[in-house]
Amino acid sequence: MNIPVLTDILSANNLIAEQNRKLLDDHRIYMVNLLSSPGAGKTTFIEETIKRLDLAISVIEGDVASDVDAVRIKKLGIPVVQINTGGSCHLNAPMIQKALENLPLHKTDLIFIENVGNLICPAGYKLGENISLVMNSTTEGDDKILKYPGIFRVATSLIINKIDLLPYLDYSLEKINENFLKLNPQARIFPLSSKTGEGFDEWIKWIRTGVDNFCNKL
Ligand code: MG
Ligand code: ZN
Repeated sequence: MNIPVLTDILSANNLIAEQNRKLLDDHRIYMVNLLSSPGAGKTTFIEETIKRLDLAISVIEGDVASDVDAVRIKKLGIPVVQINTGGSCHLNAPMIQKALENLPLHKTDLIFIENVGNLICPAGYKLGENISLVMNSTTEGDDKILKYPGIFRVATSLIINKIDLLPYLDYSLEKINENFLKLNPQARIFPLSSKTGEGFDEWIKWIRTGVDNFCNKL
């Protein structure tokens, strides 16, 4: 019987995700789980957010192999932990639990998790985050929401990256907005360019408000 086994794995994961959440609440830390396909621009987006956001930020990098993204984040003087999943195509709550042991929690306001580039299974694994963001870049085409609805349905917000390339691509912002809001009517959409900085003011204002509201509620 495969189904009960799968259920057990997911409920064990959710239990540890709740422990992660409790630990972060105790330290008043807001955590964001960033999801996208490979090459959407997650690392550059995190770098540009770090430069603009006046908060103590730490980063957890998830990749199948290598530490290239963690090295980039470290150059900004930000505490970072690299998780190599060794083949697994998503992060799970035990991996995050381990990573949190290696971050300066007493000196952190906000943690970004850069999940493994994959639009399918990361959506099924809670990590203890406050919100999940899904990113779609203009170079990926505007049909991803129709092809991978699950991940777009669980997201709190959609980041549309690389809008500086819109003049060169057949990518319809209208189509993306419409398809996303059909799945997820409460969610926000932030079209932006991590290269030119266009659209970042709105995003920074929104995430800053999210962190402040979270801290006020605790
Ligand atoms: Mg990356
Ligand atoms: Zn996976």
